[in-house]
Amino acid sequence: MNWDEFSVWGKKIADWTQDYHLTVGDKPVRARTEPGDILNALPAHPPEHGEAIESIFRDFEQIVMPGITHWQHPRFFAYFNSNASAPSVLAEFLASAIAPQCMLWQTSPAATEMETRMMDWLREALDLPEGFAGVIQDSASSATLAAVLTMREKAMNWQGNSQGLFGQKPLRVYCSSEVHTSIDRAIWASGIGQDNLVRIPVQGDWRGMDPNAFEAAIQADLDTDLQPAGVILCVGGTGTGATDPVDRCLEIARKYGLYSHVDAAWAGSAMICPEYRKYWPGIEQADSIVFNPHKWLGVQFDCCAHFLKNPDDLVRTLAISPEYLKTHGKDGIINYSEWSVPLGRRFRALKLWFVIRTYGLEELRERLRNHVNWSVALHDRLAAEPDFRIVTPPMWSLWTFRYEPQGATDLDDLNLRLVNAINDDGRIYLTQTRMDGDLVIRFQAGQFETTESDVLMAYDVITEVARSL
Ligand code: PLP
Repeated sequence: MNWDEFSVWGKKIADWTQDYHLTVGDKPVRARTEPGDILNALPAHPPEHGEAIESIFRDFEQIVMPGITHWQHPRFFAYFNSNASAPSVLAEFLASAIAPQCMLWQTSPAATEMETRMMDWLREALDLPEGFAGVIQDSASSATLAAVLTMREKAMNWQGNSQGLFGQKPLRVYCSSEVHTSIDRAIWASGIGQDNLVRIPVQGDWRGMDPNAFEAAIQADLDTDLQPAGVILCVGGTGTGATDPVDRCLEIARKYGLYSHVDAAWAGSAMICPEYRKYWPGIEQADSIVFNPHKWLGVQFDCCAHFLKNPDDLVRTLAISPEYLKTHGKDGIINYSEWSVPLGRRFRALKLWFVIRTYGLEELRERLRNHVNWSVALHDRLAAEPDFRIVTPPMWSLWTFRYEPQGATDLDDLNLRLVNAINDDGRIYLTQTRMDGDLVIRFQAGQFETTESDVLMAYDVITEVARSL
């Protein structure tokens, strides 16, 4: 392809993108293909000779698009959203046009310095104190792994990277029973070992860690010569929005010298609204905080904001500096690849810049507040239906319910059939989770373009489909 052809197709694809986003709401949300359909439609062998872009694009529409679950659909109420607002799509286009590799300041000074500035903007938007420094990671899982490696190194007096864990007292990391499985994976990958991830029971409407049980667990470990190393708190857990009492847990962490990491992957975006910060009082005491602007701020995947009270601890844990990566003669620069597990880095700050400037914080706040308010309104309607039980109350825009018509037996099976039938219907997309062993259905609103009537349509779909079972 030459660049003249690129220009023609670039314009066509921009038009296609506009049309896709304007009409995606007319499509079923979840792909309707069966496993293997797409694989079988793709030739088993690569072409020996180049093909025309016309035919590649035709196949894209005919083969790929039917196998797409539409994350940009306004009635995508499953998982958490992964939003691609228009300015973030444009910024990604530009980033892919320049395609810089931003591992070091000198390999892309603009990307590095914009990342510093954007993380400052986000820190201010979340009202975190000035001391916090930020880095953009590819995912919350990576940020959590980086934090767990840091807690391991601190607890081992910086000997773990060189000597490994052999002969070391077992390190103990505490979290609630509601954390995301990326926490488990970080614990395995860091060599701390799953058995040393201590799960503290939760309590109350927020399903947060019981602080007394947390302190008792630390004490019990000290009494048996185990080594408490860190705590991972959850603000807006994936299943039900579970949220730990951040202030009390961080006080305990400080008392025992534990490194603390707060996983607010989804709910962190909501903290641009002052009224939602009541869910993380005392957050300024945390050592490390992660949230994904790609979930709820309209900044397209991937973009993960990781704040650190003391980035030197992270750099001491992760930095590698062979001669070929040294940046001699430049003082005061940041090489962000020293702050993350991957070396190579994309220019992710550009889309934050485009999105925050296009909407301003006030419009972003308004969108988030709408999602929460519309979701609560839907919750209230379903709560009034005798055959439905609200299982967990709204945490921001996430709540769970269960269909329990009188006389029904095997409610897990019934609810699984309901969620599958709802998703086959195609107008909305929901996912299930477990709550105290029971299968329950999650609802969350957070798609950037969703409207009040999109959210309320979920009431019609849920009740109609349930009655038809
Ligand atoms: N933490 C929570 C609470 C999540 O909900 C998720 C994903 O949904 C993650 C962590 C993992 O995020 P990522 O896909 O960025 O690794």
